[in-house]
Amino acid sequence: MSQLTEAGKVDLAALADLERSFHGQIVRQGDAQYEAVRAIWNGSIDRFPALIARCADVADVVAAVRFGRRTGVLTAVRSGGHSFPGLSSCDGGIVIDLSLMKAIRVDPEARTVRAQAGVLLGELDQATQPFGLAVPSGIVTHTGMAGLTLGGGIGWLMRKYGLTVDQLKSVNVVTAGGELVTADADTNSDLFWGVRGGGGNFGIVTEFEFRLNPLGPVVLAGPIFWPMHASPDVLRFYRDWITDVPDELTTIVVHRHAPPLTAIPADLHGAPVITVVCCYAGPVEEGERVVRPMREFGTPVLDLCAPKPFLDHQSMFDPSFPHGWWYYFRSCDVAELTDEVIDIVAKNALQIRSPLTAFPIFQRGGAIARIGDEATAFHGRAAGHTVNINATTATAAGFDEERDWSRNFWSELVPYQTGVYANFLMDEGEDRVRQAFGAAKYEKLKALKRRYDPDNFFRLNQNIRPD
Ligand SMILES: Cc1cc2nc3c(=O)[nH]c(=O)nc-3n(C[C@H](O)[C@H](O)[C@H](O)COP(=O)(O)OP(=O)(O)OC[C@H]3O[C@@H](n4cnc5c(N)ncnc54)[C@H](O)[C@@H]3O)c2cc1C
Repeated sequence: MSQLTEAGKVDLAALADLERSFHGQIVRQGDAQYEAVRAIWNGSIDRFPALIARCADVADVVAAVRFGRRTGVLTAVRSGGHSFPGLSSCDGGIVIDLSLMKAIRVDPEARTVRAQAGVLLGELDQATQPFGLAVPSGIVTHTGMAGLTLGGGIGWLMRKYGLTVDQLKSVNVVTAGGELVTADADTNSDLFWGVRGGGGNFGIVTEFEFRLNPLGPVVLAGPIFWPMHASPDVLRFYRDWITDVPDELTTIVVHRHAPPLTAIPADLHGAPVITVVCCYAGPVEEGERVVRPMREFGTPVLDLCAPKPFLDHQSMFDPSFPHGWWYYFRSCDVAELTDEVIDIVAKNALQIRSPLTAFPIFQRGGAIARIGDEATAFHGRAAGHTVNINATTATAAGFDEERDWSRNFWSELVPYQTGVYANFLMDEGEDRVRQAFGAAKYEKLKALKRRYDPDNFFRLNQNIRPD
């Protein structure tokens, strides 16, 4: 792939054509906005595209794809910009940026919502919750709905309503050939299968249509805290407790140093803690009954699990994952929290150095696991837990040490790993992408890639190579 900035390699006529027809904004190196617009969420990744095509509509997306094809320039696609390894930017090439495309249309009677690719999770919830409806999505509101959905989408409502892709009805896709197509269960059904977990490999999704499901708007939700040294006991109790909880309950266990938030008493700030964060997607009173055994275990130092608007709960983790900090991730799924897994988790949690590192262990199962693994490109529905070992620092200072901690921790879990969620991969190479999909599904995805993108034009993603 050529770089747009290398003299003589760019088709200037193509660039002029693009600029002439473009409705959005084209930002180039040197423009006043360039620095702000090129930034992506993970501050440890610093890339310098030659051109950022900020699309205003589908016609712009088509034009940008055709420009990429015509010039052969390296092309990245960005919606929310939250790719852990920064796959939504590139050096020297073009970024097709969908973040300005934010239209949302809720149909409360049909219980559906249509959302353009630039919509963030919080914006989707803000639009649907006034009707007491929701799409199951992720746990940080500024995450892009597009990238999250294309990888599967795990979050607070998954055990009740499944993955985000399990509520997807249809998509509009601009293909590698620059054509706009629709995909749903009946039309281009192979493509529809592929975009439900296979990431951005098959085209640019410009619009998503989801089914909506009832939720709240008030739910029982929030974290319960114990001192981190109690982690082995808390996790053993937790493991037994969750075998018998209804699908309405989804929990996430987080180990970290307690952050200095107003909801947390000052004497706890900085203290190493284990928290079990709950979200009950059903009647509050029922949730109180279900959560009681966990909150009565041992001696919690703080209990913030209470009835609250789902929208408040959805933004709970936002302050822990702001734009611009330095992040490194290693992730894996495990079948269960065996004694061995618990001991590894508890030991490594005590070795966290950065006050900003917070690593979640998602409880899986419920509705996700009841759908057959072949139904969508997403793989690994039977996993018991998703462990996301997230090392965080504010700047480069201390980042290498925290990253090494994440890698060592992950390596200790290798004997217990059952797979990995594609959206939680760094840039880890083809073998890990194959692992994320399993060997058989990976071959099926390759065949689909050959059909929809034989030249691997869309390659800045968890790439399924067509060859
Ligand atoms: C703070 C944070 C919290 C997260 N929490 C969760 C969570 O709770 N649950 C969960 O499942 N995941 C979670 N994730 C992971 C998240 O799903 C992925 O990072 C996802 O890729 C983000 O989507 P995006 O649109 O912001 O990403 P981008 O960086 O814009 O894109 C990510 C990838 O998708 C491709 N892509 C983006 N938009 C399109 C499009 N419209 N069409 C085709 N390809 C496209 C890009 O080319 C790139 O390869 C989280 C990530 C972060 C940073």
